[in-house]
Amino acid sequence: MGVKVVKFGGSSLADAEHFKKVKKIILSDPSRCYVVPSAPGKRFPNDEKITDMLYQCHRLVDINQPHEEIFERIANRYLEIARELGLDFDLEKILRETSHEIRARRSADFAASRGEYLNGIMLSHYLGWDFIDPADVIKFDRRGAFASEWTNEMLKKAMEDHPRAVIPGFYGSYPNGEVHTFSRGGSDVTGAIVARAAEADMYENWTDVNGFLMADPRIVENPRCIRRLTYRELRELSYMGATVLHEEAIFPVHKAGIPTNIRNTNNPDDPGTLITELPADASERGQITGIAGHKDFTLITIDKAMMNSEYGFGRRVLQALEDFDVSFEHLPTGIDTMCVVVADKELIARKDQIIQRIKQTCQPDTIEIQSGLALIATVGYGMVRTPGSAAKLITALYEAGVNIRMIDQGSSEFNIIVGVDTADFETAMRAIYNAFVS
Ligand code: ASP
Repeated sequence: MGVKVVKFGGSSLADAEHFKKVKKIILSDPSRCYVVPSAPGKRFPNDEKITDMLYQCHRLVDINQPHEEIFERIANRYLEIARELGLDFDLEKILRETSHEIRARRSADFAASRGEYLNGIMLSHYLGWDFIDPADVIKFDRRGAFASEWTNEMLKKAMEDHPRAVIPGFYGSYPNGEVHTFSRGGSDVTGAIVARAAEADMYENWTDVNGFLMADPRIVENPRCIRRLTYRELRELSYMGATVLHEEAIFPVHKAGIPTNIRNTNNPDDPGTLITELPADASERGQITGIAGHKDFTLITIDKAMMNSEYGFGRRVLQALEDFDVSFEHLPTGIDTMCVVVADKELIARKDQIIQRIKQTCQPDTIEIQSGLALIATVGYGMVRTPGSAAKLITALYEAGVNIRMIDQGSSEFNIIVGVDTADFETAMRAIYNAFVS
């Protein structure tokens, strides 16, 4: 029998009704051996997430204000779930201790981690499964960098004693045992780490949508769901703003060759989105996998005749950026032109100094700055060696009246990035989607 690691997001564990759905899902497949829960999320649009409330508790503790009132609201959410599920253990005692510890430890990470900790305890009682505290097995170094190999070893050892267990998401500990969390949404990362240690056949990530959509539904009406994509395509799409999975959740499973399946707790019959190492067969995949984009970039265009024969020109341009701690996104170049695309937020305070430095060290003929650029990535292995993909994209933009200010296919062939005016962003996204999908 294979092993599946299943992670459930906050909306999948927001109330007792969802706990029931989760239990049904887990027990319907005996290979689902390790469960990674998030903290209870929102039950309705204006509801509060437990994690946000715990951070609030910490802020109050930090300024020596009482946190009990808000903690009581947190406690009531857990107690209500426990009551409706008929759980029979002393949850009130654990809640009382947690509240005291939040005050005593004065750590934001400790406070925030209790959302997952308490939910993990609840779920382990509800399933009758063992509980593994991530503070004992998920390790960070003294500086807070995730210690992957140490963790892998610790988790593997714990799994030998616990063939089925609940392991809360989002946190682990420093070498001294003090609790440390991943960044927000980090239970996805825990799930991937547990999947790697379990040498799982599948990492299932259960959430409240059917999977990844081919484009942002706020821009493109009713976009199709992506049924299958590769980790590399996912990386390109998430880099450009597509969100469902925490960015860092890709690496542990990608490296171990474990596929990830995004599933919907409220629609368990839907196959969701499958993310794999290798692309699907050509016959199964569409020409593109998805489209994603971002606004607020600046294009720095540096012209100099005979630039191609000048040693170190590119290095000096990039050195100017590095000297002012600015990273760049893309580097589309021509024979006598070098363009650097930089996010506005990076450049804003240092623009004049950087330009001055490039002028001094590179002596360009001209240097031009254009802000208000939006980037759109059209991603898909289906485009590789399919004649006419780029032509289709460019024609779609031309017909929609969108001026292309930059184009960069890079060397990957499965990602074409175009830069357009911010005002054309939505029109361009829709035009590309319609050209390839409808
Ligand atoms: N509960 C944490 C958060 O809200 C982690 C997670 O849900 O993945 O960010």
